[in-house]
Amino acid sequence: MSPINADLHCHSTISDGLLAPADVVARAARNGVDLLALTDHDELAGLAAARAAAAAHGLAFVNGVEVSVSWGEQTVHIVGLGVDPACTALADGLAAVRAGRDGRAARMGDALAAIGIRGAYEGALKYVGNPALVSRSHFARYLAEIGAARDVKSVFDHYLVRGKPGYVEHVWATLDDALGWIHAAGGLAVIAHPGRYRLSKRELDEVFARFRDLGGEAIEVVSGSHNREATLEFARVARRYGFLASRASDFHGPGESSVDLGGSDPLPEDLTPVWSKL
Ligand code: AMP
Ligand code: MN
Ligand code: MN
Ligand code: MN
Repeated sequence: MSPINADLHCHSTISDGLLAPADVVARAARNGVDLLALTDHDELAGLAAARAAAAAHGLAFVNGVEVSVSWGEQTVHIVGLGVDPACTALADGLAAVRAGRDGRAARMGDALAAIGIRGAYEGALKYVGNPALVSRSHFARYLAEIGAARDVKSVFDHYLVRGKPGYVEHVWATLDDALGWIHAAGGLAVIAHPGRYRLSKRELDEVFARFRDLGGEAIEVVSGSHNREATLEFARVARRYGFLASRASDFHGPGESSVDLGGSDPLPEDLTPVWSKL
């Protein structure tokens, strides 16, 4: 018996994905996904369309969101699964997080203008599907278009990460708030792509401990951003902290994401999948 093909983290044009919510679902269905969560950044607006499309394709669907959180100077992402979009604590909290994005984007435009790249804010807006959700990814696509770097990935490396000219500091939600909102909405909280953070082992342990103390339930063991070694490392973390395990492509779009919807490795067999509690 093969395990179910669950993919519990991906993006649509409602945040920084390349496909509309219904097209994400259609692609997932084509790829053999059995259980899908759409988890747009700081936004719930794609869930109704995705759920309707999933019903049409006979695909089980979970409401999701990926909340941007500040942890000291770092940004950490917390996925909420099984959230009720009608929950006002969650909806209002996310609206407050989104409210900072446009001003941040304008400051990114100014920062890039200061090194001679003019019009980046307006250029990024051409790629935005939801005016409330301007992201670094939209800047990256525009900068790749004008040839500032070879591709989206190298645009990030050269311009959009901390220490590079287009990076501006920003304060997101607190970890406490993010878990409070997700739990108020009846959801399970999941630490997204733990292998991506620029944190030492000790600092990561502080995140895990705080997350557990706040009632956080799960961790992405298998992620589009993890290699095999990272998967094994975070499987050990799941065992040590008693976290449920998630499996997540973090798909953003064809040509941009190395792992397609449903294309991730299976979870290590001894772990308890987060979807057993959804
Ligand atoms: P933002 O929420 O606006 O800061 O944008 C974060 C998004 O940018 C992430 O969700 C990824 O989709 C993308 N991203 C961040 N870092 C990188 C990177 N080094 N390479 C490619 N994409 C990245
Ligand atoms: Mn993204
Ligand atoms: Mn993320
Ligand atoms: Mn993501």
